[in-house]
Order: sequence, then C-alpha cells, then structure tokens
Amino acid sequence: MTDNSFHTDLISNSNADCSRRRFIKISAMSFIATSLAAYLLPGTVQAAGRSARNLPPGRIPALDEDDEQAKALHYFEDANNANKMGRKPDQVCQVCQLYSGKSGAEWGPCALFSYRKDSKTNAPFLVNANGWCQGWGPRASAS
Ligand code: SF4
Repeated sequence: MTDNSFHTDLISNSNADCSRRRFIKISAMSFIATSLAAYLLPGTVQAAGRSARNLPPGRIPALDEDDEQAKALHYFEDANNANKMGRKPDQVCQVCQLYSGKSGAEWGPCALFSYRKDSKTNAPFLVNANGWCQGWGPRASAS
C-alpha cells in the first residue's frame, strides 16, 4: 500500500465515520424531540397526517410538514421554503445522504423518518425529492 492510498483510505474511513456519527446524533435528537413533544403535549403527536396536497402518485402517503417530528426538524416539501432556516441552495432531499428515492422520482424514503409509517399500509412516509430538513447531509462522493 502506498502512502497516498493509505491516506485516501484514512480520509474515506474518517468521512464514513463522520456520516455515521452525524446520522446517529440526528436520529437521537429527533427521537428526543418527538418524545419530549409527546410528553409535554399529550395527544398532539399523531401519525403523520395526509392531505390531497401531498399524496404522491400510487397513493403512497407522504410525510406531512405538520407531523411533530417533521416540524421539530423543520422539514419542508419545497426546500425553497426552508431558506430562512439556513438551507444552502444546493441542499435538497434527493442529494441528501439519508434519501433513498429512485433517481428522477418526485418522492422517496428518508432514513431519518423511516419509522413514521402509515397506519393502514404500514408503508413509511415519503419525503419530497426537492424537500429539505435540518438533518440534511451531503452524500459521500462516488469516487
Ligand atoms: S433533507 Fe435528508 S434527512 Fe431531511 S427529509 Fe430530506 S432526505 Fe430526509
């Protein structure tokens, strides 16, 4: 192994560790925020609501902006509405490390909200490919 490849491996492993730590930290923060809201505001934490406005094709339920966890993380279906939250222009769900929607799809799963499920179908709520929340993090480069 050359010095360069050793350093590249170190940097790559370091980036992966940072992403994991960040994911764990954000997941823990969102769980605490939701639990705290449920404790402080009994009866207000519900399954993510649905509206005709945000149901993606195929009737798969979308995460509602008014869901308690979504609100705690300032999730917006339209990332442009999150600019006041410190969002940078290139930050949208479809390029977030926690997004796993198909390329070109308008909606897709997000690991951060994966436990939020529709009570009828048990399918996880989806986020908008052009959405944003404070859990946004860059995907590791494919190089
Ligand atoms: S920005 Fe990332 S963490 Fe936040 S909702 Fe979109 S995909 Fe999920």
